[in-house]
Amino acid sequence: MKNKMKSVPYNASVGHTAGNGIETLTEEKWQAIILNNEAYNRKFFYAVKTTGIFCRPSCKSKMPNKENVLIFDNAQQAITEGFRPCKRCKPTGGPLPDHEWVTQITHYIEANYNKKLTLQSLADICHGSPYHLQRTFKRIKRVTPIEYIQKTRITKAVEYLADSEESITEIAGAVGMYNTSYFTTLFKKKTGLTPTEYRQLNRNKEMYTGDKNDNKK
Ligand SMILES: [Zn+2]
Repeated sequence: MKNKMKSVPYNASVGHTAGNGIETLTEEKWQAIILNNEAYNRKFFYAVKTTGIFCRPSCKSKMPNKENVLIFDNAQQAITEGFRPCKRCKPTGGPLPDHEWVTQITHYIEANYNKKLTLQSLADICHGSPYHLQRTFKRIKRVTPIEYIQKTRITKAVEYLADSEESITEIAGAVGMYNTSYFTTLFKKKTGLTPTEYRQLNRNKEMYTGDKNDNKK
């Protein structure tokens, strides 16, 4: 049995144990998903572990990796297991409120900030168009998705700088920014300090206060 699954589901509380109405992914069901077969819409729903979203078989969203798919008898079971309804195919019948959708997107960013993220890849994963995603996200969060990604990365970098001895290059990579000079520029723009200055300042503060975990905002 090969196990090449590397990605971690964003919702660690989702328990994939048997006996929760989770069905087997048969070849027939997999074909229905691949072919967006509407005839199967009343027969099952499928959830994707890596995105935390569930869909109707007919959904035109990006095809998931087969090993990340879970099958449910009905929408309620998927919700109980911690999955959220897809914005595009609306597996619960009603439209997904924009707030819910934006929450899905922020969850995804927070769990995947260390990977390559673009507006297009977010739109694919969260089942919407880049244009709609940009507008809706900005309206609700008051920042663009890209700004939110940057903010998340800098917040994580601040933690790494305070709590680890890793180099600036390693920390930049750990927050998904492989261009160290761009990372330094962005960090300074957001915090007013370079990463090295921040680390130095934090160390000095620890010396005076003796507080090792002074991460208060
Ligand atoms: Zn869908």
